[in-house]
Parts: sequence; C-alpha cells; structure tokens
Amino acid sequence: MTVKKDAVVEMHYTLKNDSGDVIDSSQGNDPMPFIQGHGNIIPGLESALEGMKVGESCDVSIKPEEGYGIHHPEAIQEIPKEALQGIDNLEIGMELQSQDEQGNPFVVHVKSINEDTVTIDANHPLAGETLHFNVSIEKVREATKDELEHGHVHSGSCSH
Ligand code: ZN
Repeated sequence: MTVKKDAVVEMHYTLKNDSGDVIDSSQGNDPMPFIQGHGNIIPGLESALEGMKVGESCDVSIKPEEGYGIHHPEAIQEIPKEALQGIDNLEIGMELQSQDEQGNPFVVHVKSINEDTVTIDANHPLAGETLHFNVSIEKVREATKDELEHGHVHSGSCSH
C-alpha cells in the first residue's frame, strides 16, 4: 500500500537547513512512525509523501509556510531575569512554559541570556527556515481503530 490518509507510516529522514547543516535525523534510531493526514508531521512533508511506496525515497524542500511557520519578530521578548528566578540551569535553547493574557499556555525558548534580562522567543526554533528533507519510506500499514481515534501511532509497549 502507498502513503495515504489514515496510513501508519514509518520513515527515516534527514533534515538539513539552507546551509546544508544536518538539524535532525532518524539515522541510528528506529524509523519515525506517524499517521498520514493527522497533522503528526508538518503539512509540506505530508503532501510530499502522499502516494509514496515502501522502499522509495525522496528529497523535498519545504518553505516555512508549509513547515514551522514564518518568523514573527514580535514573538521575541526581553524579560527581566528576576521573572525566571527559581529556574536552575537556565541556558540558551531551553524551553519554558509561558502564558498569554488569556492564560493560554505556550512554549518559548531562551534565545539569549543577558546581564539583567533574558530574551525569549515564542517562534518555533525552525520558524522561517526552508527545510530540506531526505526521506525514505520503511513501512506502511493501515492504522488501527484506536490509533485513528487517538490521532497517533501505538507502537511497542505504548498503549495510551
Ligand atoms: Zn493512544
């Protein structure tokens, strides 16, 4: 069967940025499982994989709009260091839970640590990046009823 909506797909992937640096890769690990058509992976990759067969591989470049979104400069904020008292090992790249005015939680990451302030960024670390994937399809199967209800793959001992 081919990659199509509601199929469970296992893929190996290598992700590079515009400069050709490897940002992420499944090599050396198990292939990454996901359900096609359920937003488990970024939209641009879902459309590129649609119709592929086991054993096939492809190179695909994905624009930010179809990846992790465009970069919003206004999502970068400088906050007083005191606001983060109690967080040990504050370091660049660390993810923190924040809240908007309505109390909705969202994730920010630490962009830089300054003398009295910390710069936090609510953009995804890959926002604004064109993503260059090399993907190979290792396995395709029908999703189970439970998997479709939950919207994620059940594998190994995981049965939540
Ligand atoms: Zn589940």
